[in-house]
Amino acid sequence: MLQSKLFPKTRKEAPKEAESANHQLLVRGGFMDQLMAGSWTLLPLGWRVVTKINQIIREEMNAVGGQEMLMPLLHPRKIWDQTGRWEKAKEVMYQFKDTRGKEFALSFTHEEIVMDLLRKNVTSHKDLPIYVYHFSTKFRNEARPRSGILRGREFMMKDLYSAHTTEKDMWDYYEKVKIAYSKIFKRLGFDFRVTDAPGGVFTDGNTHEFQVLAEGGEDTIYFCDKCSWGVNKELLGDKVGKECPKCKKGKIVESRAIEVGNIFPLGTWYAERMKVYYTDDKGKKKPVWFASYGIGSTRVMGALVEVSHDDKGIIWYPQVAPFDVHLIDINQKGKAKEIYEKLLKEKVDVLWDDRDVAAGEKFADADLIGIPVRMIISADTGDKVEWKERAGDKVEIITLDQTIKRLK
Ligand code: ATP
Ligand code: MG
Repeated sequence: MLQSKLFPKTRKEAPKEAESANHQLLVRGGFMDQLMAGSWTLLPLGWRVVTKINQIIREEMNAVGGQEMLMPLLHPRKIWDQTGRWEKAKEVMYQFKDTRGKEFALSFTHEEIVMDLLRKNVTSHKDLPIYVYHFSTKFRNEARPRSGILRGREFMMKDLYSAHTTEKDMWDYYEKVKIAYSKIFKRLGFDFRVTDAPGGVFTDGNTHEFQVLAEGGEDTIYFCDKCSWGVNKELLGDKVGKECPKCKKGKIVESRAIEVGNIFPLGTWYAERMKVYYTDDKGKKKPVWFASYGIGSTRVMGALVEVSHDDKGIIWYPQVAPFDVHLIDINQKGKAKEIYEKLLKEKVDVLWDDRDVAAGEKFADADLIGIPVRMIISADTGDKVEWKERAGDKVEIITLDQTIKRLK
């Protein structure tokens, strides 16, 4: 991609109201634009990052048997009345009437929609288990959306739903997804903890959250400094410094954190209300066991910026970066063009700053946009190139073939 064509340009100033790092840097770098409070356009750079995040999530969902589909976002009131959540979740749901007086909601989640699919398609125990997921927009009437893209009124989520014949089968799969989620957050590069947490408008039981340790997080979590024990502060009083209830060796420490994922063992509550039954091998009718699993992929992008930036800009991890390499030439257009074309041929995802601007401006923009590798072509580099990683200070002069090998 040629930077002269990239929409839009970077900005020198962050919006006045932007307090969090992700808000300031993602807007300045041209990754996203705010339409109104809690509502964002993902610009071409931002959409590249979210697409990469989604692909990592998709691979791990497919690896546990998930089947991708796409469900509607406009829902009739009727379906939400069947579980009572039209009333129970009134605060977060956007509900409205059309001009004919018919009532609708914009999707804040999809349990009821999946239940409707199940009751139309499941009769026998042989039809189960079922694992389906989608990536789509969620709408939530958040009281005071702030923290940039961490909290939107409209945001992107991957949600997976699983349906089972027995409680044991539900818990076995739930554990599998918990491991898949840990793989996803490891692949994304996060330092995270799994915590017990309340179920909100989804379940009276407990759930598990995936919490990224970050100063800018809205949540507070407690976890053991020795073992995997962790809990959201919402669920427990003050426990800092006390002995870990699980391993009895570690101490409980506290951290601010960003919730990036949440998994919900929902049981038969939804099936009983929406009449989703199957017949077992003895011909007996039983309710379906159900669980749901969410990851906010736009929040993940914001969380990545919160944990990986400096005062000059974003520092993307290679696996989620909008481009593999940022090619910058200092008055060497002809040579840079050759290298650019060679990189494209080798299937390296390259952004070439081909603009006629001062070298200082090119470097400042490269630091702001945060592509992990910067490759510089100048009069001094001869038939080699300068390689510098965004995360460090080391500068190397190497051949083009070496850079291609490294980038692959
Ligand atoms: P929070 O406690 O932060 O309001 P939640 O617990 O209500 O979130 P869930 O229903 O658990 O959210 O949604 C699953 C995932 O969707 C969350 O773990 C988070 O990654 C993402 N998410 C939830 N609400 C938002 C939001 N308003 N903006 C962006 N992402 C969100
Ligand atoms: Mg949650």
